Amino acid sequence: MSKKIFLVTGGNKGIGKAITTQLAQAGHTVYLGARKVEEGMKAAEELKAIGDVRFVQLDLTDLGSQAAAAEQIQSQSGHLDGLINNAGIIADYGMASGVRLENLRTTFETNYFGTIMVTQHMLPLLRAGSSKVIVNVSTGLGSITQHGDPSWPFHGVTPLAYNSSKAALNMFTVLLAKELRDEGFRVNAVSPGWIATDLGGDSAPGTPEEGAQIAVKCALEGPDGATGLFLTTGGVIPW
Ligand code: NDP
Repeated sequence: MSKKIFLVTGGNKGIGKAITTQLAQAGHTVYLGARKVEEGMKAAEELKAIGDVRFVQLDLTDLGSQAAAAEQIQSQSGHLDGLINNAGIIADYGMASGVRLENLRTTFETNYFGTIMVTQHMLPLLRAGSSKVIVNVSTGLGSITQHGDPSWPFHGVTPLAYNSSKAALNMFTVLLAKELRDEGFRVNAVSPGWIATDLGGDSAPGTPEEGAQIAVKCALEGPDGATGLFLTTGGVIPW
């Protein structure tokens, strides 16, 4: 197995920490991105017991932190094999008729604008790597097709700001996959399932370890792996 180099955003807790853990356990170097220095360093220190995990400060809403993170990875490793865009927020649970503008903006700043900007900052490093993998952690709640099906278990589940930011992220995924296909990139969106984290809440049935699996699978697939798809552990789901 060749050792690869990954960046996981929001790696200090929840699904991102589990993705970081599983990639490091598989023998790869992982840059654990976190916006809060203390929490990121603490998580990276803890995970150093299982593999090569390195903290990098990275805030999806701070372009300066993204440029500095790219510089740090460039100087320490010279390239990236994969980027896992995991970090995300639910700013509120407002419904379509009453969502607050401020919360719509905050959610899009992180989940959509921020993810695109991180990806742009990391593209030169990914182009210099051999695997050229981008995994966008989305959600089934971002699937417009599924929301249109009255028999879908999560039919009509708001929050509008979160769902629409992830639907937009799905569009970014499709278009980026098409744009970069000829360069050998594989760009996919994944839905981790409903997972017990700070974001998913205590009643969620899945563990972070289970939620990480589809992102890790996509990250480690070889050059014949899928691109331009929306994936769960059960297979492809509709946009
Ligand atoms: P958590 O709340 O446990 O973790 C979210 C992570 O994102 C944290 O590390 C958080 O950092 C980070 N983050 C938030 N805002 C920023 C920012 N501006 N810059 C950098 N990092 C940031 O949630 P999950 O682990 O559940 O969520 C991970 C991903 O999985 C998200 O994209 C979410 O939408 C997706 N998802 C989760 C589901 C679930 O049921 N849990 C279901 C479907 C999708 P900090 O600690 O500083 O807040």
